[in-house]
Amino acid sequence: MSIQRTEAIILKTIPYGETSKILTTFTKNMGKVNLLAKGARDVKSKYGGSLELFNYISVIYYDRTERDLQYVSDVSVIDPFLQIHNDLDRTYEALAIIEMCNRLIHGNEDNLHIFDLLVQTLQGIDRAEKRPVNGLLYFMLHVATRLGFTMDFDSCKNCRDVMDHKELNFSVEHGRVVCESCPSHLRNVSGALLSKESLGIMRQIARSHGNGLYNIAMSEKACHEVYHLLLRHLQFHMEELQNLNSLSFLKLA
Ligand SMILES: [Zn+2]
Repeated sequence: MSIQRTEAIILKTIPYGETSKILTTFTKNMGKVNLLAKGARDVKSKYGGSLELFNYISVIYYDRTERDLQYVSDVSVIDPFLQIHNDLDRTYEALAIIEMCNRLIHGNEDNLHIFDLLVQTLQGIDRAEKRPVNGLLYFMLHVATRLGFTMDFDSCKNCRDVMDHKELNFSVEHGRVVCESCPSHLRNVSGALLSKESLGIMRQIARSHGNGLYNIAMSEKACHEVYHLLLRHLQFHMEELQNLNSLSFLKLA
């Protein structure tokens, strides 16, 4: 047995026994770890509100590799994401993101590039003065990139034309746009139409960092179009992301 100390995001909590809680966590150093917090639901629990869904915590636990469930020794909260807990739209956006992480992360291999993206996105959604939904779009686009399914919106897959067309076909299979001048059979492979506005938004989301992301304005129609294309791209490449339960709560669904 060894003692581990790591940062983690709580992806799921279930009650256990009379007063305990089982947590599914995405840790910074050990991938996905299931933790048992004894007495966590007791009113006098030392954990207080630290073991709630979404919370960004620092945790110490006893690690026995042969066991599926590790015992929590101590927890402190790094970020409770208060706005995510208090504002229903933000709650649903964050729920969609942690469900995707829960499906995509397997076992104890570290996934630092996804962990950092998750923390950065939750902090953005929590702090955003407007359009927290942009954080969800950002996460979907960048999780695809970080898992090797990059989306390129800059030039035609076939003729490399730098495009200024009214409407473009995005090939989900190739992760590239195909222009109107190129043969139609290239456009129809797992394609989805993308308006000029949506294409511009995709390019901005791909390049933005920090606060700029939440200032990207868009029509409701473009927001839906962007969201559905991102979802289609993710689900085309990643079997695990079929039938996500949390998406039906989103205004975008
Ligand atoms: Zn072309």
